[in-house]
Amino acid sequence: MQSNMMPVPLTIPFILERARTTYAAREVVSLLPVGRNEQGQPIPGRHSTTYGAVAERALRLGAALQALGLAQGERVATLAVNSFRHLEAYLGVPSAGFVLHTVNIRLHPEQVAWILNHAEDRVLLIENVFGAMIPALRAACPKLEHIYVLGPTPQPIAGVEGYDEWIAGHDPLRQYPPLDENDAAGMCYTSGTTGNPKGVLYSHRSTVLHSLASAPKDALNVGEADAVLPIVPMFHVNAWGLPYTCAMFGAKQVFAGPFTDGPTLARLMQDEQVSISAGVPTIWMGLLAELDRARNEGGPYDLSGMERMIVGGSAAPEALIRGFQERHDLKLVQAWGMTETHPLGTVSVVPPGVQASSDEGYTLRAKQGRSVPLIEIKLLNEHNDPVPHDGHSMGRLMVRGPWVVDSYFKDEGQHNFVTLDGQLWFDTGDIATINEKGFMQIEDRAKDLIKSGGEWISSVDLENAIMGHPAVAQCAVIAMDDEKWDERPLAVVVPRAGQTVTHAEIVEFIAPKFARWWLPDATVLTDNIPIGATGKFLKRELRQEYRHYKTKDFPHRADTF
Ligand code: AMP
Repeated sequence: MQSNMMPVPLTIPFILERARTTYAAREVVSLLPVGRNEQGQPIPGRHSTTYGAVAERALRLGAALQALGLAQGERVATLAVNSFRHLEAYLGVPSAGFVLHTVNIRLHPEQVAWILNHAEDRVLLIENVFGAMIPALRAACPKLEHIYVLGPTPQPIAGVEGYDEWIAGHDPLRQYPPLDENDAAGMCYTSGTTGNPKGVLYSHRSTVLHSLASAPKDALNVGEADAVLPIVPMFHVNAWGLPYTCAMFGAKQVFAGPFTDGPTLARLMQDEQVSISAGVPTIWMGLLAELDRARNEGGPYDLSGMERMIVGGSAAPEALIRGFQERHDLKLVQAWGMTETHPLGTVSVVPPGVQASSDEGYTLRAKQGRSVPLIEIKLLNEHNDPVPHDGHSMGRLMVRGPWVVDSYFKDEGQHNFVTLDGQLWFDTGDIATINEKGFMQIEDRAKDLIKSGGEWISSVDLENAIMGHPAVAQCAVIAMDDEKWDERPLAVVVPRAGQTVTHAEIVEFIAPKFARWWLPDATVLTDNIPIGATGKFLKRELRQEYRHYKTKDFPHRADTF
């Protein structure tokens, strides 16, 4: 029997309309470069607008795109920083019937061109600071017909129009095209750590549901009274959905443009009274160092309005969570997700009865947390049999839900999917544990696990523990070849400025937390661990760099190297 409920399709124009009307006066702030200093560094300038103005310009953009004669569903790419103009594209492109394809600006230009070609983008909105890429992209991407530059350009680029002038020449869209809620609205490519990147298409429905599920208190806690600064780039899984979530609930949005250094972020948070922010652990490490510095030098920042700082993208070490809480009374909240999950999958919010700043609380906060409503997670072994949710058995993390991918763009493979009892599950490629209360902990990417004597060692657990050592700034643990055990852990460590640390000290520091056979067999000190385009350690490069390291070369197993 059918219900009596209206089958209203869940589409992005609802978000745009709400921002345009209900929250018309709410502010949208962007830091954008206004000239350069003597060292040639861009100087940040504050730009302020409102949801009303952003929505109006988004509708002009929609009309301008339609006037180009694109067919519904065609892709419009952005190579852009976090700013109000990018927000206009978020709202205007899908509402006019096209697919917003946010491209990672940190990729090599050849990879960018590969992605633009694979997606068959016909329009590109490119930030002025990346203008130098235009000739190469034009030459490499024959389908790319229209390029518009976001922001002022010192001198005109041949054949390229300014975005502001282009949209100003069109009246705002009066009527939305008919949209099916399952139509594609957004597109992101995975970071492609193995093989070519894969395209994931988000739907209008998945975007609306993801926004609804992200806002509640036990998720990201976004409401009208908030000022939200997504430091995570808008090209990386829709800045974790925050631009849509904020527009739906009327939160003030604050964008840092191309500025991600600790001092600029700390000042921006203070000046705009930011209450929620989101970024990868490396961003938070930079901010913590800046907060420590400012306090030690007697000029601390006032971040008293900050309610929660969301960390995800890779594991947040417990020491980082403790550092913010204990030294600055700031709450880092861990979340987990992927390009394939829009991204929000789990959030680690401490349940009632547990003190957030107790040892038990910190242990839970260092986990990736419980799944948000409508997302299901489970563990399977290599034969697709269930692995118990007992908090210590490791298994392949499987996920399913209305904002989880069910296939990749132009991909027939279906290698990452498993059907169980008629239900499709996505194999995340993560190895995890889940405890009796549903708290999930990522132990590793499947390919980064260290397999020693047929047993698994979690590189993430070791890294997190080692990063708790006061002389360690960063640590990545990788496998080295071992004649007897196949693989053994090697710790690659960046010491804090002006400090040093020995292998013996590291092992002594973490030994109480691990079985003896988990402890690294060697430690190498380095100045820098390579970081990829989405802010994660590039373990593939580290493995390449240290591939000649073998356990047999470290007979004493307690030396410093
Ligand atoms: P991406 O698609 O680039 O967002 O990468 C997704 C992958 O990042 C996940 O499969 C995890 O391996 C990793 N990841 C995301 N969030 C976390 C987290 N909080 N802790 C550990 N790993 C994470």
